[in-house]
Amino acid sequence: MPARTLATIHLDHLRANYRQIQQHIKPARLIPVVKANAYGHGAVAVSNCLSDEGAPLLAVAQFQEAMELRDSGIQVPILIFGRLFPDELPAAIRAGFRITLFGEDDIRWIEALGGDRPAVVHVKVETGMGRVGVLPTRQAAFFDRLVHSRCCVWEGLYSHFATADEADKTYARQQLDNFNALINRLESKATRPPMVHMANSGAIIDLPESRFDACRSGIMLYGHYPSPETSKAIPLKQVMALTTVVAHIRRLPAGHNVSYGRRWQTGRETTVAVLPIGYADGVRRQMTGRLQVRIGSRAYPVVGTITMDQLMVDVGDDAVRVGDDVLIWGEASGSVIQVLDVAEAMGTIPYELTCGVSARVRRVVV
Ligand code: PLP
Repeated sequence: MPARTLATIHLDHLRANYRQIQQHIKPARLIPVVKANAYGHGAVAVSNCLSDEGAPLLAVAQFQEAMELRDSGIQVPILIFGRLFPDELPAAIRAGFRITLFGEDDIRWIEALGGDRPAVVHVKVETGMGRVGVLPTRQAAFFDRLVHSRCCVWEGLYSHFATADEADKTYARQQLDNFNALINRLESKATRPPMVHMANSGAIIDLPESRFDACRSGIMLYGHYPSPETSKAIPLKQVMALTTVVAHIRRLPAGHNVSYGRRWQTGRETTVAVLPIGYADGVRRQMTGRLQVRIGSRAYPVVGTITMDQLMVDVGDDAVRVGDDVLIWGEASGSVIQVLDVAEAMGTIPYELTCGVSARVRRVVV
């Protein structure tokens, strides 16, 4: 039986986005960020495609995500952004994963293993994101320890922007200054590692001086600008199309309540189409009253509270039929709904929408 609700993943769009971004940042290399199931797109299919494109490294958040990629046969080195715990380190080192160091404890943990294979490491430094990374006050001691460690091969140095997707780049430039000051100190001691990287999508597009040896991009690979405030200098194609079909049609009289909480009533006699998709699939309840879908060439409002498995659409007097295709977001049959626009209408970011498409929705890779 075919699934009615689908997330169709267009690998040709992914490939086109990869090439556009890589072209834009050259000679820097592009590190695709494939964490969180490739932002909901399916990490294995996305990673295979981008390995074929020549990605030098893939980035995930967690050890388990890296293992799943490796177990699926992906050979490209995998950088893990998150902290690895001592019980994960032996397998991570054996697999050749690029391990992020957050501080001296991580070096101590690696040394305590006493293994014969060195860990290949990238150091994360705090420049202003305020999440993780070696603090400026700890950096001198940390780097001294790292360069003398026989257990670590130091491949990379990185940091992360807090505001690169905002129009005002003042804070992002301060972070970049902090990072550059550190690089200058390392270079003066001839201890700069070969792969320095800082830019995420927002910085790739609007802060060219932050490109260094490599850039890490997630959201732009999947076809979305990180926020409405960034420029649109790189043409992108949306990779995911979220679609469903009309499951049921009812002609309702004026003044009829629709869905939980009676938040919407028909203003006049109208046709309401029921779609078999809801917040359990990733169409958030919070989108109630803010979402439009496309059936054929027309846009229709979602009416009444979005429920777990179904939502309702007011199609007026149009001849919509059971089985008609419905576009929730992305591109299908010549219609386009930008995830960024949906996110903006909801007061969120495109990341949250694609990551939120649940496991119940079948991914179809084309
Ligand atoms: N680098 C790090 C450390 C991240 O956590 C992320 C995503 O959250 C990225 C890069 C990619 O960011 P973007 O999807 O905005 O390109």
